[in-house]
Amino acid sequence: MALQRVEDPESGVTWYCFVDSPAPDRGNAQSSPGFRHALITRLGGASQAPFASLNLGSTVGDDQAAVEENHRRLFSALGLARSGVVSPHQIHSAHVAAVDRNHGGKVIPATDALITNQVDVALLLRFADCLPVLFHDPVHRAVGLAHAGWRGVASRVIPATVAHLNHSYGSDPRDLWAGIGPGIGKDHYPVSKAVVDAVQETLPPDTHVASQEAGQWFLDLQGAVHAQLSALGIQRIDRADICTACHTDEWYSHRAEGGKTGRFGALIALEG
Ligand SMILES: [Zn+2]
Repeated sequence: MALQRVEDPESGVTWYCFVDSPAPDRGNAQSSPGFRHALITRLGGASQAPFASLNLGSTVGDDQAAVEENHRRLFSALGLARSGVVSPHQIHSAHVAAVDRNHGGKVIPATDALITNQVDVALLLRFADCLPVLFHDPVHRAVGLAHAGWRGVASRVIPATVAHLNHSYGSDPRDLWAGIGPGIGKDHYPVSKAVVDAVQETLPPDTHVASQEAGQWFLDLQGAVHAQLSALGIQRIDRADICTACHTDEWYSHRAEGGKTGRFGALIALEG
């Protein structure tokens, strides 16, 4: 699928979504029939540097009133009711939670992936280099969203999400679509050998997602996520192929911005 850029003319809030073919003039986060999703840039918000501007992270030191205003602008631009949006408190774990309307407007503790089979329950997670991984099951009608940094990948948050979709809703991995959002690119991701080993251990033996340059290891996290998805039997996989560190004009990058930055959002919901 192609990546489409959508800008809300009123607020300047801007997001990307995967589309089968470009469909201009859609005011909403939109994609394949049956679900909506958005990879939400940092544009159009109220936060000041170093959080400028659509920071959705409330635990990074930003002004809380600005973070609140950013959420208001986002939900208004996407045409979403706040009461239907569920978020977790992310801790780089492999914990997955199945949520429903009763969780609307709430924060799920200590969780890094959410799934739902209820229409109009929007899943919203936050990122700055870690990868958003979106899931849609058109057969059993379910969606999921995972937060995958190296710790999440090493703790197998992706297989855990797919397993949870299966045992909660009967999803068969062969029916799933997965979308990999923006995240840190290999050239900007120097890591220790221990990190490489922890990630490599979760992959099929013939898959190599790291290389060494002048004694320094670099990790291809997007490649690792892709390899895990493929190994699970998922055939329809799309990648945004956007490096957050290369594009701090539109995305927050923990690494490129010295750890003092905001969080961008990714969102997915089933539609009726
Ligand atoms: Zn880069």
